[in-house]
Amino acid sequence: MENTIAIIGGGVAGMQAALTLKELGMRPVILEREERLGGKLNTWDRLFPTWTPAREVLDPLLEAVRGAGIEVRLGAAVEGVSPDGRGVTLAGGERLAAEAVVVASGFDLFDARLKEEYGYGIYDNVITSADLETMFREKRVLTADGRVPRRVAILHCVGSRDEKVKQNHCSRVCCITGVKQAMEIRELYPECEVFNFYMDMRMFGPGYEEIYRQSQEEYKVVHIRGRISEVSPTLDGRLQMKTEDTLIGRPMKMEADMLVLLVGMCPARSNRSLAVSGNLSLGDSGFFAAADAFRGNTRCGENGRIFFAGTATAPKNVGESLNEGTAAAWQAYRSVKGGASW
Ligand SMILES: Cc1cc2nc3c(=O)[nH]c(=O)nc-3n(C[C@H](O)[C@H](O)[C@H](O)COP(=O)(O)OP(=O)(O)OC[C@H]3O[C@@H](n4cnc5c(N)ncnc54)[C@H](O)[C@@H]3O)c2cc1C
Ligand code: SF4
Repeated sequence: MENTIAIIGGGVAGMQAALTLKELGMRPVILEREERLGGKLNTWDRLFPTWTPAREVLDPLLEAVRGAGIEVRLGAAVEGVSPDGRGVTLAGGERLAAEAVVVASGFDLFDARLKEEYGYGIYDNVITSADLETMFREKRVLTADGRVPRRVAILHCVGSRDEKVKQNHCSRVCCITGVKQAMEIRELYPECEVFNFYMDMRMFGPGYEEIYRQSQEEYKVVHIRGRISEVSPTLDGRLQMKTEDTLIGRPMKMEADMLVLLVGMCPARSNRSLAVSGNLSLGDSGFFAAADAFRGNTRCGENGRIFFAGTATAPKNVGESLNEGTAAAWQAYRSVKGGASW
């Protein structure tokens, strides 16, 4: 128990927090509900903004966790956290005592079936951005009947900025993901046309705006400001989409072989039970609310021994999630060992 810090979630943020705590002489224990560490990076192919293979980020982290002898418990879903930060409760009732807790439980992907009008789960060639990453990992993006697509449409903001599904936040990373994926399709099949339908193009990170320009100038991706309102199948196995170009105020109809839905980042499904048990606050969309938006963004407002790292509090990219792992670890260390509270 002495020096034990329970880390909920073994994605990049949780692993980075554990490595930092170990270096500081603490005993971090990673509790991961799945049977492997790594979180969503296990399913991504190449990462924006540098096209780095996700494995090149993940493998050194996994190796470091192993090499440092950090205790990892897989298949360990955490259901409760003590309001005083002195331990967690696992599914099944087992309790792990700790001196502090880092919540790095990440995010879940929006369930695209909830937006019925786009036909995910109904029409074979409607897929999500996460499905497309799996196809990129297999180095082929084909329609359900095995054809190379001649035209692909990519729709932004599916399950984000949407009051109807109670997800009012912007997921931040999906605009750049959609632009990256459009360029990757053009790299794979130069003959295939790619159209991105967006509400606003939000290129928030370093180099992202340049990638957006490059997608237009070099890769000839077509970006249309507009929403797709309805999708239906055609007799020859394609998809017909009703849409509108809101810049010129004209309704449009377009056929494509494949529609990619850029699904948003939603709060992890365990947030509610963790919040109720630990007396933690949730924001509007259901992500954890940190103490404040500035120096307290990895601290919990209610309790001095519970900390947040990564996408548990809001959508973030990998670099930001890693940085928060380090910051939360330092704060957890200080809460146990004392020291400056800056
Ligand atoms: C389609 C898409 C593509 C993306 N591509 C990029 C990219 O190219 N570049 C980039 O910088 N960012 C990208 N991102 C963002 C990136 O995925 C996140 O920044 C990163 O995964 C956040 O890491 P995390 O550790 O906070 O969360 P996660 O990766 O979600 O890991 C959280 C872990 O916690 C576990 N967990 C959850 N609840 C519990 C519980 N109660 N008990 C135990 N374990 C639990 C989960 O199983 C998971 O392993 C992308 C996001 C999306 C949606
Ligand atoms: S990042 Fe872009 S696609 Fe994602 S929710 Fe925000 S505006 Fe929509």
